[in-house]
Amino acid sequence: MSTGTPRTFNIVCIPGDGIGVDITDAATQVLTTLATTFGTFNLKFDTVDWSSKNYKQRGYYAPEGGVEGLKKYDAIYFGAVGWPDVPDHISLWQMILPIRTTLNQYANVRPTRILPGTVSPLSACVADPSLLNWVIVRENSEGEYSGHGGTTPSTAHAAHTVATEVSIFTRVGIERIVRFAFETALHRPRKLLTMVTKSNAQRHGMVLWDAIFYEVAREYDGRVKYDKMLVDAMTVRMVNRPESLDTIVATNLHADILSDLAAALSGSIGIAPSSNLDPTRAFPSMFEPIHGSAPDIAGQGIANPVGAFWSAAEMVRWLAGADGASNNEGVVEGAGVGNMVEAADLLMQAIANVTERGVKTKDLGGKSNTKEVTDAVCEEISKVY
Ligand code: ATP
Ligand code: MG
Repeated sequence: MSTGTPRTFNIVCIPGDGIGVDITDAATQVLTTLATTFGTFNLKFDTVDWSSKNYKQRGYYAPEGGVEGLKKYDAIYFGAVGWPDVPDHISLWQMILPIRTTLNQYANVRPTRILPGTVSPLSACVADPSLLNWVIVRENSEGEYSGHGGTTPSTAHAAHTVATEVSIFTRVGIERIVRFAFETALHRPRKLLTMVTKSNAQRHGMVLWDAIFYEVAREYDGRVKYDKMLVDAMTVRMVNRPESLDTIVATNLHADILSDLAAALSGSIGIAPSSNLDPTRAFPSMFEPIHGSAPDIAGQGIANPVGAFWSAAEMVRWLAGADGASNNEGVVEGAGVGNMVEAADLLMQAIANVTERGVKTKDLGGKSNTKEVTDAVCEEISKVY
């Protein structure tokens, strides 16, 4: 263990709606246990109530200056936001996208593995689904989510209404995410990167992606193996040959879709984590499970907290790279600040031990509730340490 005064990290939690609240509580309990067990770092939590209920009452999710105010924290922990009585695009455009853009979180990283004791739907069609071990790198700042476009209604002839949805791809935006993905691949054992586009059908932005990918690839020749897939063919490869993939980089929309598929293939959307990273570390990064607020099971105490714990582990791993302990793309070599790389690994081990023991929620075929899984992971942290 490192010596000296433990570094304190200030985390702001945005629990949001529905099961977002339950799993954020569970994640802070697990993180507090982890920090106390290690004693080499401290985590201090603040909470803001930027929920759909508040949107209904006050007309906004984040108050004026709220997103700017996030800059004073070391990291953001996000639960889930959205409720049936507020259209989905409102929370996305009023809160989530402003956070990502204001805080330069241009890389969205989504690991997928099959945890011990869980069953993948792939078991039916591939020899060894445990070979599924991917990281999807999603471009998180532009592309299909640019918001540009418009609708030209035709009052005389409704059938003539035209809507355009403009995807904006910039050289800077593509190059930085491609470089980030190559660094991610380089620091994983298999050193293998697959780039996904649709450049046979979309002749401008997707062609630029391909061109920039091969430019950046030259810097990694001999160090990272790489290939290119069309997004439609990629969905087939993910199901039929999961072992042929490792790191995957794709646009905002394509990677969003592929990562939901990846989560389903790993057994449940409830286990999948994601990190919204500012690789320059100028601003705090944000960590959240990929699932939504799941109104159908909200308030029942049965949400699977594993995706929330895995996201918490990714947050700890990211914070390990504070104070210059990481390269330009955020990759941490060695133990990092306060042995936090070890702490993140230990949390992942604790989660795996708990799923292996069969302490699982219903979505994974188990009988445990959120609290039972949370307590088991906390117990396991102290046991494994
Ligand atoms: P939102 O609009 O916030 O995205 P949603 O209901 O559209 O919410 P998700 O919340 O992602 O989408 O989930 C889809 C379904 O998957 C849920 O209805 C729920 O049954 C299940 N689910 C999602 N997350 C979990 C979880 N953590 N534990 C158990 N089941 C989950
Ligand atoms: Mg949804």
